[in-house]
Amino acid sequence: MYDLLVIGGGINGTGIARDAAGRGLSVCLCEQHDLASHTSSASTKLVHGGLRYLEHFEFRLVRESLKERETLMRAAPHIIWPMRFVLPHRSGGRPAWMIRIGLFLYDHAGGRKLLDATTYLKRRSSDRFTPLETDVKSAFEYSDCWVEDSRLVVLNAVDAKERGADVLTRTACTALERHAGHWSATLADENGNARMIEARAIVNAAGPWVSDIAGMAAQTSEGRLRLIKGSHIVVPRLYPGEQAYLLQNSDGRVIFTIPYEGKYTLIGTTDVPHDGSDRAAIAISGDEIDYLCGVVNRYLSSDITADDVVWTYAGLRPLFDNNSSDASKITRDYHFDYSAGDGGAPILSVFGGKITTYRRLAEKALDRMKGDLAEMSAPWTARAPLPGGDIADANFSGFLAGAKARFGWCPPTLLRRLARAYGTRIDIIMRNASGIADLGEEVAPGLHGAELHYLAEHEFARTADDVIWRRSKLGLHGAADKVDAIEAWFETYRSAKDRDEERRAAKAGA
Ligand SMILES: Cc1cc2nc3c(=O)[nH]c(=O)nc-3n(C[C@H](O)[C@H](O)[C@H](O)COP(=O)(O)OP(=O)(O)OC[C@H]3O[C@@H](n4cnc5c(N)ncnc54)[C@H](O)[C@@H]3O)c2cc1C
Repeated sequence: MYDLLVIGGGINGTGIARDAAGRGLSVCLCEQHDLASHTSSASTKLVHGGLRYLEHFEFRLVRESLKERETLMRAAPHIIWPMRFVLPHRSGGRPAWMIRIGLFLYDHAGGRKLLDATTYLKRRSSDRFTPLETDVKSAFEYSDCWVEDSRLVVLNAVDAKERGADVLTRTACTALERHAGHWSATLADENGNARMIEARAIVNAAGPWVSDIAGMAAQTSEGRLRLIKGSHIVVPRLYPGEQAYLLQNSDGRVIFTIPYEGKYTLIGTTDVPHDGSDRAAIAISGDEIDYLCGVVNRYLSSDITADDVVWTYAGLRPLFDNNSSDASKITRDYHFDYSAGDGGAPILSVFGGKITTYRRLAEKALDRMKGDLAEMSAPWTARAPLPGGDIADANFSGFLAGAKARFGWCPPTLLRRLARAYGTRIDIIMRNASGIADLGEEVAPGLHGAELHYLAEHEFARTADDVIWRRSKLGLHGAADKVDAIEAWFETYRSAKDRDEERRAAKAGA
């Protein structure tokens, strides 16, 4: 019997599983698809306080988020890094005094040590205005962080596993039954093979499906789930420099433009109420594309249209309904529904949250279950690096310089990508390689056998999509045309694994 079954392999589920496993609990996590298949790979990829949530008086959430920025950056400096955000000021937008107060709070509420403070910019003395329309004369520039969202999920799952959790991907929870003192759960793999497991407690972190699991567990919920679709577009890079822009639209919403994957700009997001249909296949609409292009064209001296879009993605925010009629005003804070059950078999359902707050959310979720799982040890994640994040002084440039010195034979673009993706675990991929040929066949541009092997062995990757859209964004760099070759690599890998297992079994039987 497990202490804890976590349902859902997004950021909240993997974060809770990692924290619980590190506290000595026996944990099983099941995810119906691949890790981060849904909302947690569809975010704007910011570890941020959420400047605009101040307008909705979400001070608790903003303060907690601001503090988490530097905690997470220290834990995973390879996949989380500082970014400067330029907020152009134009008449008709929010008044300058309001922005000043917001940014003052932003700078001072979160114990900022590593990130640069806000500055005020004038066109005549800053190159930040080059991409902007000429009527924009002033701007604010502040700090937040960037995160590779789906990699953050995977790293939490990897750490959970290394601390003893069973992480079952492509395994859906299809039934739950409450008994005195424990639950039984039916888990079905992608081929429909079902098995039963038992757990003393359940965390329901099923994101857009949280109400389905609550229903399965007959959990009477105080929470109402509101699904809000948010979509992004990716276009060829719109401007030089590493700064992002935060553009205020006339409808009160804000849109980000963010340098992305070297040669692109990421633009998002929208806020569209969703009726819950077809949750596994959320896609951007033509209207959303036009909306995003329109906002960008009003601020930047660009003229982008749907024809410029090279990639899109969309996801559903699984929010806790606080009865707001305006989708952008529904609280982004998280909420737990907890029910102890008569016989002491508790379930905790997670609503809402942000990528940014997942670590604190996990601490608080376990704190809520302390009475049920009393043997768990104290919180520990605030100072623990994520896999690959044990980089001296969280100094990524220093780490990259060291990698260049050690692997001088590796093409710089590839080396930088591997260092960014895997941090100190790059050594497992490089092993004893002393030349590019030692990394094996180049299965897709920049993707070698050694990396695929690492992803299959350590990061739960099973298909080409797992690799090119969630463990990396190589899909934007030519790998999308090599899906068949990557699938063939996995086929060969699985056959070799099966043969190994047969050999081991035969040896054990002999
Ligand atoms: C457009 C958009 C932009 C955003 N931008 C940001 C941002 O910049 N910064 C930020 O901090 N936050 C952002 N967020 C919020 C953040 O992405 C979400 O709060 C977070 O990803 C939710 O994670 P989750 O684990 O709750 O849900 P999910 O990631 O959806 O995970 C839930 C998982 O449960 C699985 N599941 C469901 N049912 C079952 C079952 N029966 N059995 C097994 N598994 C099951 C699903 O397959 C899914 O993978 C954004 C959200 C959106 C939509």
